[in-house]
Amino acid sequence: MNGTDASPVLPYLFAGPCSAESYQQIEASALFFKKWEAAAKGIARITAIRAGAWKPRTRPGCFEGFGEQALQWMQQAKARHGVAFATEVANAKHVELCLRYGIDVFWIGARTTANPFMMEEIGQALKGCPQPVWVKNPVNPDIALWIGGIERLARHGKGLVGGIHRGFGLYDSRPYRNAPLWELAVEFKRALPSTPLLCDPSHIAGNRDYIGEISQAGLDMEMDGFMLEVHPCPDAALSDARQQLDFAAFEQWFSRLVFRNRDSAPAKMEQIRRLLDETDDELMQVLSRRMDLVRKLGNLKKEGNLSVLQLGRWNQVVERCTSSAKEKGLDVDFVLKLLNCIHAEALRVQNEIVEKRPGGSSGS
Ligand code: PEP
Ligand code: MN
Repeated sequence: MNGTDASPVLPYLFAGPCSAESYQQIEASALFFKKWEAAAKGIARITAIRAGAWKPRTRPGCFEGFGEQALQWMQQAKARHGVAFATEVANAKHVELCLRYGIDVFWIGARTTANPFMMEEIGQALKGCPQPVWVKNPVNPDIALWIGGIERLARHGKGLVGGIHRGFGLYDSRPYRNAPLWELAVEFKRALPSTPLLCDPSHIAGNRDYIGEISQAGLDMEMDGFMLEVHPCPDAALSDARQQLDFAAFEQWFSRLVFRNRDSAPAKMEQIRRLLDETDDELMQVLSRRMDLVRKLGNLKKEGNLSVLQLGRWNQVVERCTSSAKEKGLDVDFVLKLLNCIHAEALRVQNEIVEKRPGGSSGS
């Protein structure tokens, strides 16, 4: 929107209701965020107010958004109050209507990102458009699909294409609605270092009580901003009522964020990092030694026609390692995950050895 005095602490901040529900609700949001920005004197800015016009719902018969009427409300509030709006688009028709009503920013919802045909259709509809587009991660934890979706849109549009981390739908994501799987957000940043990434704590949390902790974790992962659901009266919201903040809670949310220094580390840390590098080198050597032994065993299993998985032996390994982990003060769940990962690789390598026909190509 505007603001002049300082540079904002967050490069991007989208806030507003899950769904546009009435002109009054949209106008109340515009007035609130304008007032909040004015008080923040440029330290904080709202990039655009978010509000869904079409709501992808799991089951039919629920509230599915006001569609074109919602776009009219946004257009009207934009004309009256000079604020920018962002909305979700899920097909070419949505894009066309949003362009007609002057919507400033688009985002792609998690269910759409998962569908390459829809992403291609939206990409085509965005041809040459300067509007920024933000792509939520797909519902399933598939980073290639997420990155592929971003690439598809970037090929057509002219605006910035960024990512939104909204968590992943797993069978069990407790206590959250969606599992954050922060490691995938880190992977995203490693794969696309110059693409901004936002955190959507509302859809990760599913419950307003967790929004603060998730937002702080996102900031600490060097996310570039937030997309957050804020509603004038959350309990009366037509969608996602439990996860939306009211205006006072939004102000409190922002004031509690801790912005840490992202610059390079002091000398003392550099020293410890060198030691960490040495330790990682040792870890790689140990892993390589372990894989050599695994290969030797694989050859013996092949010779003796023995099964690759020997459960009794594996139970012993797990037992030994977890009790040693306990003694050393390591988290047992973490060690179990690590062991399972190492074991999966050992089984893969040994299966490859056992399945190789005599006289076939060597080299492991
Ligand atoms: C939304 O932002 O309101 C939404 C539907 O999000 P998601 O696609 O992450 O479920
Ligand atoms: Mn929502």
